[in-house]
Amino acid sequence: MPNGPTPEEISKRRTFAIISHPDAGKTTLTEKLLLFGGAIQLAGTVKGRKAARHATSDWMALEQQRGISVTSSVMQFPYDGRMVNLLDTPGHEDFSEDTYRTLTAVDSALMVIDCAKGVEERTIKLMEVTRLRATPIMTFINKLDREGREPMELLDEIEKVLKISCAPITWPIGMGRDLQGIYHLIEDRIYIYQAGEKGRAGTHATIDKLDSDAATEFLGARAQTFRDEVELVRGAAPEFDTKEYLAARQTPVFFGSAINNFGVTELLGSFVRHAPGPQPRETTGRIVEPMEEKLSGFVFKIQANMDPGHRDRIAFMRICSGKYSRGMRLFHVRLGKEMRINDALTFLAADRQHTDEAFAGDILGLHNHGTINIGDTFTEGESLMFTGIPNFAPEMFRRVVLRDPLRMKALQKGLDQLCEEGATQVFRPLRNNDLILGAVGQLQFDVVAFRLQDEYSVQASFDNVNVFTARWVYGKDAKKLDEFRTKAYENLALDHSGALVYLAPTRVNLQLTLERWPDLDFRETREHL
Ligand code: GDP
Repeated sequence: MPNGPTPEEISKRRTFAIISHPDAGKTTLTEKLLLFGGAIQLAGTVKGRKAARHATSDWMALEQQRGISVTSSVMQFPYDGRMVNLLDTPGHEDFSEDTYRTLTAVDSALMVIDCAKGVEERTIKLMEVTRLRATPIMTFINKLDREGREPMELLDEIEKVLKISCAPITWPIGMGRDLQGIYHLIEDRIYIYQAGEKGRAGTHATIDKLDSDAATEFLGARAQTFRDEVELVRGAAPEFDTKEYLAARQTPVFFGSAINNFGVTELLGSFVRHAPGPQPRETTGRIVEPMEEKLSGFVFKIQANMDPGHRDRIAFMRICSGKYSRGMRLFHVRLGKEMRINDALTFLAADRQHTDEAFAGDILGLHNHGTINIGDTFTEGESLMFTGIPNFAPEMFRRVVLRDPLRMKALQKGLDQLCEEGATQVFRPLRNNDLILGAVGQLQFDVVAFRLQDEYSVQASFDNVNVFTARWVYGKDAKKLDEFRTKAYENLALDHSGALVYLAPTRVNLQLTLERWPDLDFRETREHL
């Protein structure tokens, strides 16, 4: 065991991300969490950042326009004796593989759902990603101050569509104009709703005990129906079970209105209490435990530095075990090289500075001069590599069209490098010399075009291409694999690492191929190894 305060420091870390469909209220909730965590003084700070997306600058205009900044990628704040690390997953048009990979670097997630809209498409996708690592999920059903759907119906939908059991912790008393408050099923306490508390910490009057006279008086005409409803909920929904939650089979559900600071402290309090601390992680050799004395970690994201004076990039490393202190030497496993790290960044939101210490669960920002790739592992000397930092099957495909054919070499080099950073994925069909780019969001193509021009002086445009999706093809039987290569030649390609990929032109084609080749494994992810 390490000496000093390390075990306690590590077990109090809560590293998580928020998953939601655009407009469900992720930014608003993030801001309230920071506000209650004392990380910001005023509401509007995070929103302002979002609005600043349209600002332009003479460097990396695109990245600045989109508000992609290093500073908002990780937000660290203390709360109730814990240290919370909130990892931002860009929403909206910023959606990219970064979002997916960030989810591989957290220990739990918070899902925000709009009470009028229910489970939406982006949430479904993000939830699938959290399943890769059985990540525990807490749910916040937002915008209770607006007319929404029946709470029971929302829980049913979550259970059916997301295939996770729901354990309500709070229950709304009315909705929209009729919203009176929430009832805490475990505390047996009513939190009274008051609108328009914008920007102030969420202190709400409460009434203890649903069967008290005070509750009867407060609930007025709806007292009996609400008590019956609670009875029904208790009968129909499972009780919160920490074990089930930690196994990602059950999600505790909270109701509230982020913009009105309502229901957020109840959520945050439960979150820091029940959400898991740093979890063990698999590597090529063995499982790494967070409490191990020696530091280890992996890079899940690389991002342009906002400092125009330095054109280097920041590599975000999730610390998986041990402790970082300034000036220590880290072993870059892939390169087999030691590096002294003097200027790593941490992200304590109120006081963002170069750091002296960081612990398992924290994120370190490493200055990257081109030697760090996504998926790279750092240790204190041991040659292990973290697994589970995948490439995700892209959902959008474009064929690269080069304006000046003489720039082919520069284009190849640029694409290779952008692939290594995880900015896009390149597929080279077996049957021709096309270069097909894959991404999970449109922004990725814009960034690639911009950076090819900016950093490699290559002007490229993108054509639509007839690809529906990609699957990495694996098979134990070499003969079968050979046969597949011949039969499916027209639709096969190699990815950046040389792995075999099936590019399905349509959903039906994919379905047929899966049925025809039951001995082969068609995977939606390929691990960085
Ligand atoms: P994001 O796209 O998920 O980050 O969502 P935002 O936080 O930007 O919120 C989307 C819109 O919903 C904004 O106009 C917010 O002001 C609004 N919003 C967020 N929370 C609430 C809420 O509790 N009630 C209401 N009525 N609107 C909200």
